[in-house]
Amino acid sequence: MNNRDEEPLCARCAKTQKTCCQASEIYVTPGDVRRIRAERPGLDFSHDRRSDDPDVTEHDDDPEWYRTFNDDGSRRVLRQRPNGDCTFLGPVGCTLDLEVRPIICRLYPLDYTASGFREYLVPRCPTGLLRSQQTLLGTLGMSPEGGDAWRLQLYEEIQEEPNPPIAPAERDRGAG
Ligand code: SF4
Ligand code: SF4
Repeated sequence: MNNRDEEPLCARCAKTQKTCCQASEIYVTPGDVRRIRAERPGLDFSHDRRSDDPDVTEHDDDPEWYRTFNDDGSRRVLRQRPNGDCTFLGPVGCTLDLEVRPIICRLYPLDYTASGFREYLVPRCPTGLLRSQQTLLGTLGMSPEGGDAWRLQLYEEIQEEPNPPIAPAERDRGAG
């Protein structure tokens, strides 16, 4: 085993591509906002923004996700720096403690709905850097079983949003 093999996957990822913290718009629940505000009082860390990415906007198998969208298609996301880095990204990773980190971040790269976990993972992680006997989730110390409490908390906090479980485009049609 050489030094490169011993480096955590996320550190090797950062040397080869934009990481999830440099290229993702992170939706924050009302609970995330409360927790981050308590830890970073006075910091303006989120704003409402529209996305044109169908992976974000099209979730017909998960209508509860549509509650995260306002009628104009925007949703509450973490602010990013001009280069796309998350506002909480530091030199060696996230500067938020795990229990304060947005739930979406804690679950990454698991993919899910209000009913459970999907069979596949979010495709950004560089699986080509894994050694032959490694799995992505094993290397990251994650599992659907271990993440299920966070998934349930995510959808519980999504329920606090005032929006209906209907795609914004469908709401437009209903109003028209
Ligand atoms: S979770 Fe995946 S995409 Fe994010 S830094 Fe780690 S390896 Fe890269
Ligand atoms: S909050 Fe932390 S884990 Fe989430 S995208 Fe930002 S830096 Fe990455």
